[in-house]
Amino acid sequence: MLIKKLRVIFKKVNGLVNKEDGFVLVFVAAGMLAFLGITALVVDVGTLALEKRRLQNACDAAALAAAQELYYTGDESQAHQKARQYLENNNVMETPAVAVDNQTRTVTVSSSRTREMAFIRVAGINTGTVSARAKAVFGAVTKIDGSRCAVSPLVPFGVPDCAAGFIPGEEVVLKYSAGIPQIHGNFGGLALGGRGANNYGNNIKYGYQGTLGIGSRVLTEPGNMSGKTKSGLQYRLEQCPHTPPCTYDGGYDPDCPRVIIVPVYKPQDLYGRDEVEIVRFAVMLLEKATGSGNQCSVYGRFISMAPPSGTKIVIDPYLPAPGTGPNEGLYAARLLE
Ligand SMILES: [Zn+2]
Repeated sequence: MLIKKLRVIFKKVNGLVNKEDGFVLVFVAAGMLAFLGITALVVDVGTLALEKRRLQNACDAAALAAAQELYYTGDESQAHQKARQYLENNNVMETPAVAVDNQTRTVTVSSSRTREMAFIRVAGINTGTVSARAKAVFGAVTKIDGSRCAVSPLVPFGVPDCAAGFIPGEEVVLKYSAGIPQIHGNFGGLALGGRGANNYGNNIKYGYQGTLGIGSRVLTEPGNMSGKTKSGLQYRLEQCPHTPPCTYDGGYDPDCPRVIIVPVYKPQDLYGRDEVEIVRFAVMLLEKATGSGNQCSVYGRFISMAPPSGTKIVIDPYLPAPGTGPNEGLYAARLLE
């Protein structure tokens, strides 16, 4: 009797256990399905996101290059050709649309791409389509705003305008040492946003936080200021976070704090505290300060004709392109959308 009862109880318990196993199995299966579903979604959506990024990059590059072509040649068909060449180089074989507008000097490139889906086909979605669009303009840099930069590329040095233009790699004296009578007290300093050696020294260290434009008239900062120059330069050069530090010969990061934007001004001959007019800008690599005491000189080299990428700039696509190539000022492209 007791054995019979025990058997009944055992069967009930056993049944319960089997039932729970069943629940567990169903739960695990459902979980796995959900997991597989999410994985499939992630893989397919990830693939589409990657395609979208590639396509956007290709459209951006094509629009920027074509806008530059349009600026220098003024020829719409050449701009078209440039855009298609860039798209082809980036494997955009789909039928892209390229619109060149000589009135606004803009180039718009758009394209779309369809990809077969790998996993979410089970949900009836066989393909996914992504599209991208880019609009760009190119022109002369007419204004630079140093306020948005951690370290502003605008420093209180300028170079006089000369007919020869700039030669990339050419070494230029940004600040002279004592004993040069021809400079009439102007050692190379500019009074940006205020006068005096302290302001000058801070502008070397942190960069000028204001705005300078073509046509701006600024005062020179006369005086040797060797000490402020030396300490400012040392601080600024140490801001380069790269190893080895950026140099012209050893290579440099175009966005390094050593990369500076220098106003190019008129006239060449200055006397005491004088006024100059900015006629264009140049990008230089700040290289070194030499000499001790009042013999401190600062040197830089022309490096490129494009501003560091984070710089807030205004560009004018209507300012005529120089006749002798891109070594007569600062030019930049901008994505408008
Ligand atoms: Zn650097």
